[in-house]
Amino acid sequence: MAAFAALPLAAAPPPPVVLTGATVYTSSSEAPKKAALLLVDGKIVFVGDETEARRKAPGASVVELPGAFVYPGLVDAHAHLMGLGIARETLALRGKQKEEILALVRDAAAKSAPGAWIRGRSWDQNLWSDRRFPTSAELTAAAPRNPVVLTRVDGHAMWVNEAVLRRAGITGRTPDPDGGRIERDPSGKPTGVLVDAAMDLVVKVIPERTESDLKRFFAAGARACAAAGLTGMGDASGYDRKEIDVLRAMAREGSLPIRVYATVGAASKDLSAFLAGGRVEEGRVTVRAVKILADGALGSRGAAFLADYSDDPGNRGLLVTPAEKMNEVALAGVRAGWQVWIHAIGDRGNRLALDAYEKALDVVKPEDPRLRIEHAQHLAPEEVVRFAKLGVVASMQPTHATSDMPWAEARVGGERIRRAYAWRTLLTAGTKLAGGSDFPVEKEAPLLGLYAAITRQDLSGKPPGGWYPEQKLTRREALRLFTEDAAFAEFAEGRRGRIEAGFDADLTILDRDIVSDALPSAEIPNAKVVMTVVGGEIVHRAAR
Ligand SMILES: [Zn+2]
Repeated sequence: MAAFAALPLAAAPPPPVVLTGATVYTSSSEAPKKAALLLVDGKIVFVGDETEARRKAPGASVVELPGAFVYPGLVDAHAHLMGLGIARETLALRGKQKEEILALVRDAAAKSAPGAWIRGRSWDQNLWSDRRFPTSAELTAAAPRNPVVLTRVDGHAMWVNEAVLRRAGITGRTPDPDGGRIERDPSGKPTGVLVDAAMDLVVKVIPERTESDLKRFFAAGARACAAAGLTGMGDASGYDRKEIDVLRAMAREGSLPIRVYATVGAASKDLSAFLAGGRVEEGRVTVRAVKILADGALGSRGAAFLADYSDDPGNRGLLVTPAEKMNEVALAGVRAGWQVWIHAIGDRGNRLALDAYEKALDVVKPEDPRLRIEHAQHLAPEEVVRFAKLGVVASMQPTHATSDMPWAEARVGGERIRRAYAWRTLLTAGTKLAGGSDFPVEKEAPLLGLYAAITRQDLSGKPPGGWYPEQKLTRREALRLFTEDAAFAEFAEGRRGRIEAGFDADLTILDRDIVSDALPSAEIPNAKVVMTVVGGEIVHRAAR
């Protein structure tokens, strides 16, 4: 598939190239036109007539793209690059029968060096015929030479093989730790499932991730992004020094196929050193934002609301970061001239995040802080106007709406759901938006985000007409979310998000016209990524 992705990437600028034969969307607002593009030293230097393009750079290689459509490079404004890389190395067990899981483990063991750890996630014994906890014996038979750790769907139990029990020193004489349970047979011998605090016994012996692990995760995640047509992503993980250093090293050696706009975590012990050290821009990596978590998620009822959950009276969710701490970090970030991102899902989380921003802006009065709220998922009516007033970017994930729609209304009720995932309402109020996926929570495919923003339907076209269809965006508005708006959200609007002479040569090239109404919206997710170009370098090319 990714014919070019496996090649080493040069840190030096790529050779000049002329792209011809395609239809070009220079921006989300302009009419498409047949045009050639000349890319030199990582920049777009000419858009127009092919003969002219060739004459300007006689030595340039020519890439013919008959019938293709060229868009400004698609950017995922909020996602998790390392998480994507890790997910690709972790067995996905959701919905699988025990026999299928054991087959996957057997397969993984055959491909792994002896002693290498095998990880998996999301098994659920309630889906199996016996509905009973599995055993280490079954897992040991599937992978006798590798430690295997498989996490349950809720993250509250682990299924391990004997190699892990041995390394963790868990025997019949090991007592259950406080807040945890070691599953045992009638003789007291551990059977291979560890519940809650008992999982810590295993976590302690899992080797810490090395730099080369991190590098492998980032590289695998970035390759997947390039294959999906992404030229850049905003990384909402809130990293620490170790991860940032690895990203920067990869930028220096030219081994990152896409651009990464990374955040430092509010909990990082190095946060003040980062803020004092100034913004970093190194090759394809930018570090100038700090990430704070206001609340949790809707699915697990962790999102903080002003009123009770409709399906759980008495519960209003929880704040992950206390308001004072949030105010303090936001102020420190703004003061240092850094951007601040606050994750806020519930209406209370969003209110407190906006309060923190209002206070910080009041004290510092910066010129262009461009603060962001990540998700901005549920908003009280009075909060909507505050986004535009404070100049806060609402960084939203269209696929969250279509993934959550089967159960979200039960959580918040018929009244609050009307103001949820309300990108049209925010846009009308003058808010700047940015589009993302939150991968690996959702797939890393930006075409799915465009489709969800435009249709508010799942991939089977349900519900007919779309879920709360008044919030739908037009195709051009949706494209804008993942191009110009995403560029603005990372201070790159003068360099990226459009196809224009002088701009970075970041392009997403598709096999069909996703903007034209002639293409049924159901076809948008099926568009094929013909080529992904970052800084004039072809980082992904579809196999023919
Ligand atoms: Zn996220």
